[in-house]
Amino acid sequence: TFRAIVIEKNDTSQIVGLKDFSEADLMDGDVTFRVTHSTVNYKDGLALTGKAPVVRRFPMIPGIDGAGVVEASGHPDFRVGDQVILNGWGTGETHLGSYAEKSRVKGDWLVPLPAGLTPAEAMAIGTAGYTAMLSVLALEKHGLQPSDGPVIVTGAAGGVGSVAIALLAKAGWHVIASTGRAEEADYLRSLGAAEIIDRNELSGPMRPLGKERWIAGIDAVGSHTLANVLSMTRYGGAVTACGLAQGMDLPASVAPFILRGVSLLGIDSVMCPKPRRLEAWARLATDLDREKLGEITATIHLEDVITAGQDIIAGKVRGRLVVEIQKS
Ligand code: NAP
Repeated sequence: TFRAIVIEKNDTSQIVGLKDFSEADLMDGDVTFRVTHSTVNYKDGLALTGKAPVVRRFPMIPGIDGAGVVEASGHPDFRVGDQVILNGWGTGETHLGSYAEKSRVKGDWLVPLPAGLTPAEAMAIGTAGYTAMLSVLALEKHGLQPSDGPVIVTGAAGGVGSVAIALLAKAGWHVIASTGRAEEADYLRSLGAAEIIDRNELSGPMRPLGKERWIAGIDAVGSHTLANVLSMTRYGGAVTACGLAQGMDLPASVAPFILRGVSLLGIDSVMCPKPRRLEAWARLATDLDREKLGEITATIHLEDVITAGQDIIAGKVRGRLVVEIQKS
């Protein structure tokens, strides 16, 4: 057996606890790895609290991200001792996830640990940071660059937001950070935010077209916030949408699209094809300032994960959490 966070379900509710889990109950896969580190993303919070139906199979080991060392492999790309990372692909949702000392998955889902990153750093980045990178790549592929104008990042003090700010500032963008936590202003400035706005400015009902304030946006919040961000995007700009921290709805108007040629770019990290993942992780390894990554990261242990899940849903987690599961 090995230690794991396990979610079980009875008729009315779900029960979450730290337990011993039998290796015989691991699901199919051609690579088994020793999980040394994981992290807590917003989606992990949804799974741990049961606030949204993220978990599709019971019992489930949650944890959408893992990093560790290969113990057994029938996959041509991976050998015993290789360091690997895993993000998404339904782990922690339909396939047993990474809040465990062991994981068995399809080798096709794994990415080699990028050169220059430790397993702990890779999990400090995690799905949140890798999604921030996918969002930056989407803006770049749209042809946008720092000289075009400012970029807004919503959910700024959260995981996606914090990494997005660090990446954009390093690339030379003028970053406007939207946050509900005024007390995090110094933190956001230290990451590279040039301006900070109160998220209340964006969270109410939108006007179809507002004053043009930014050429690009990275939104992790959805709902009214995304609608307002779109309405204030300059002619020809683009906004990426990856999240729903405010809500799943999008009470927007088509005005920014048809009158200003604004584009809305959807970002999915879960089923993202491997070449794009490798591109994102390679860029993270070279572009993300390690010192800043350290500043946004706190370390916890498997015992603390259930509480951390509640905290992230309550909007109380700043930046990123690394879960140290066992020694590398
Ligand atoms: P997080 O650390 O909890 O960050 C979310 C941030 O959103 C919070 O820190 C808060 O920022 C802001 N926020 C929370 N509630 C809000 C509300 N009611 N109104 C306005 N702003 C609110 O979560 P995360 O891990 O970065 O994930 C962010 C979002 O992206 C989540 O919805 C997650 O599910 C989604 N996501 C999607 C993908 C994908 O593949 N599409 C991948 C990763 C994440 P402030 O305190 O600064 O205001």
